[in-house]
Amino acid sequence: MTVETVFLNGEFVKRKDAKVDIEDRGYQFGDGIYEVIRVYNGEVFTMDEHMERLYQSAEKMKLKIPFEFKELSSIVFKLIEVNEVQEGSVYMQVSRGISPRQHHFPAGDVSGSVIAYTKEMKRPLKQMQEGVTAMLVEDIRWLRCDIKSLNLLGNLLAKEEAASRGHFEAIQHRGETVTEGSSSNAFIVKDGTIFTHPATNLILNGITRRVIKELADKNGVPFVEKTFTVDELLSAEEIFIASTTSEVMPVVKVDDVTIGQGVPGSLTTKLQELFSKRIKEDCKVQAV
Ligand SMILES: *Cc1c(COP(=O)(O)O)cnc(C)c1O
Repeated sequence: MTVETVFLNGEFVKRKDAKVDIEDRGYQFGDGIYEVIRVYNGEVFTMDEHMERLYQSAEKMKLKIPFEFKELSSIVFKLIEVNEVQEGSVYMQVSRGISPRQHHFPAGDVSGSVIAYTKEMKRPLKQMQEGVTAMLVEDIRWLRCDIKSLNLLGNLLAKEEAASRGHFEAIQHRGETVTEGSSSNAFIVKDGTIFTHPATNLILNGITRRVIKELADKNGVPFVEKTFTVDELLSAEEIFIASTTSEVMPVVKVDDVTIGQGVPGSLTTKLQELFSKRIKEDCKVQAV
């Protein structure tokens, strides 16, 4: 196994040599943004969508990314190549850079810190086939969940609460309204229609969510971006969550409530098939 190469502020270095400054604002404040991008068969999946969202997140928090879109994309491609990633992911983050600790933003000449690295990771096929369980957790996050910010404390507390009870994911709700998972979007099926929270400031508009919407639209599956309640979640025919690493993941139980027959539902399974087909097309996978 080759020693992993990472990208740190303009240079490709060995992982053990990649050190972050103690006054990096990402480290001190979580003042930055990130993306996780999936690699299948050595090819990047929905690359442009992730890169676009990174720049959009940056704009929303008045952060300047010190690389052009194309430069940053080629850095990602190079990392995958030198690390020979086949099945895995790329993590990329941009912080507001290094400056003496103070809450207000540093002067314009302070450049953002960019890091990126790769990881080997298999598709979660077994869980996708059997389904997972989730726990309802009150959504205590801030009101700009549309930014993929490094500030994940609300998400972490939710995930930890769910994980400590053996659940795969926390499904968050603001009062009666279901928002999203701690690191995934949430969907229900009701009368054959898929419902998911609209892409407002209260959720992160997942790239996986967008691919699912596109696949549903193309295949005549009704897909509605409309909020649903905790009661509607618990009485849904099917539930699934979706993210870059979880893909289309069936949820077969929420707290103590069994969903449908307690196995992945037929529409969820159909979406999984369509999603796998899309991966194979986009990432030039030969065999199943
Ligand atoms: C990243 C993330 C998602 C899923 O987005 P994908 O682009 O599909 O990976 C959903 N919710 C939150 C809170 C996230 O951070």
